[in-house]
Amino acid sequence: MSIEGVIREEAQKIAAELKGRAPELQEEYLEAKARADNLKAQFDAANVALERVADFKPNIEGLYQCPSCWVKQNQQASMIRRQIENKDDSFRCSRCGHITKI
Ligand SMILES: [Zn+2]
Repeated sequence: MSIEGVIREEAQKIAAELKGRAPELQEEYLEAKARADNLKAQFDAANVALERVADFKPNIEGLYQCPSCWVKQNQQASMIRRQIENKDDSFRCSRCGHITKI
């Protein structure tokens, strides 16, 4: 085989090895992207949290509102009262599960 042929064969082996890693790399990339998207959403929420809290309405039409859903995601969500015997009153968000003890 010519020198060029040997080098070409080596290039094909390298390409085949890299191609073989493509599915693993794609999975890693998608996981990293999902994590980056999640961090970006948290970063954005952190930056606007104080602006959002200024607009928060704890009670809308008689329904107590979840502070977590509003501040973190700009979403209105009502909370359901949970009254347990001899324990503190609390409210649980129907959307995210956040609990506010009274
Ligand atoms: Zn909530």
